Amino acid sequence: MEIIKELLEKTPRNTVLETIREELDDIRESIKKGELDEQSFEKVINLLSEKIYKNSMEKNSYNLKRVINATGVVLHTNLGRSLLNEEVLENIKNTSINYSNLEFDIDSGTRGSRYAHIEDIIKKITGAEGSLIVNNNAAAVMLVLSTMAKDKEVIVSRGELIEIGGSFRIPDVMERSGAKLVDVGATNKTHLDDYEAAIGENTAALLKVHTSNYRIMGFTSSVDSKELNGLKEKYNLPLIEDLGSGVLIDLEKYGMEHEPTVQDSLGKGVDIVTFSGDKLLGGPQVGIIVGKKEYIEKMKKNPLTRAFRVDKLVIAALETILSYYIDEEDAIKKIPTLRMLTISLAELNKKAVDLEREIKLLEVSSSLNIVIEDSMSEVGGGSLPLVELPTKAISINSTKFSTQKMEVFLRKSNIPIITRVYKDKLYFDLRTIREDEYKVIVETINNMCKTLKERI
Ligand SMILES: *Cc1c(COP(=O)(O)O)cnc(C)c1O
Repeated sequence: MEIIKELLEKTPRNTVLETIREELDDIRESIKKGELDEQSFEKVINLLSEKIYKNSMEKNSYNLKRVINATGVVLHTNLGRSLLNEEVLENIKNTSINYSNLEFDIDSGTRGSRYAHIEDIIKKITGAEGSLIVNNNAAAVMLVLSTMAKDKEVIVSRGELIEIGGSFRIPDVMERSGAKLVDVGATNKTHLDDYEAAIGENTAALLKVHTSNYRIMGFTSSVDSKELNGLKEKYNLPLIEDLGSGVLIDLEKYGMEHEPTVQDSLGKGVDIVTFSGDKLLGGPQVGIIVGKKEYIEKMKKNPLTRAFRVDKLVIAALETILSYYIDEEDAIKKIPTLRMLTISLAELNKKAVDLEREIKLLEVSSSLNIVIEDSMSEVGGGSLPLVELPTKAISINSTKFSTQKMEVFLRKSNIPIITRVYKDKLYFDLRTIREDEYKVIVETINNMCKTLKERI
């Protein structure tokens, strides 16, 4: 019964027991009807284990389920943005099946703050005096404006009033905070004078929004936070920046375009910076607010903070992810998002060769044209919109089955494989595919060819 034991390790007990019961009934029934000869013990066990494997695959049947992202878009908002790793899961598990000191100060034995757990580490990484985390960056922006500019005016460049995914416009989110946006300049150009001319009695803050999901090209100018710093001191106004992606390390060192870091913004004198946890940071979905302690303390008392508060599992995940940033090399190695963004072309090529070899071992592969091609991946998630990352992809097409039919089959299979279709070929970009996903990909391609062939 070794094999059953092995299956029990990989598959939930209920699935195993249920399958054994059902399958044994089927076998008995078939033998009774004379459809099946009496079976040897080994044969029955083999039948059972095959069925259990199949059922456990089919247990990917929750509505929200894993998919394989073969698109090469690393921060794919529709496919869940950043991935976490096993170490993060271990910490989430530990924090969720046990009680924790979520809001308990162990030293004093009295009530503590759920935000205290990550304040020190954020301070260590960014140098910020204070920090607060909420559900996502949209909530962070709303909380900041509601605390610092309710019923007052906030001056922002017209070129920075952006729409983020799902047709949410940042200006609409901002207005809900109760702050009044005063947009200055023109779409392509805003000057320091424009900001200054708009400052009045009712001005509460200056706001910069990082146009993280698009660029205005050509005849353009915008005012850097550093220049705004002079203005804010002259009029004694706080400067707020919505950075969007929130990178904590200089990605230029790793061959990518420079994306302003959180530390850059704080260094330029920005008082409050907000950014997402699940974009370039590579963590769970949160909005992180960092900056001057006096503002952060006010935000903590805003009732919206209670409405936007993050779950303990999210805090556990974020603390693990942030701990990697103490040593930059660690962050690049252990955070899946950063690892996928910085993987070398040589490594991508090796992955492509390995996966191609496994696909070509299939008997059915004779009906497919399988080629390793140079291609481009995207960062995604509204980050670094102009950056194209050279990558290696496996392209597949067939004279027997249409590319469209293959795409649909893969997308609707038990573990959906989301590919890119370009010029009538399917592309599997190795940047977002893990080695441990090869087996599922190969098996699904095998199924695909057999199933589509039967339909011809
Ligand atoms: C992505 C983004 C947001 C929204 O962040 P979420 O964490 O998805 O809520 C807000 N502002 C900018 C500039 C962004 O890029």
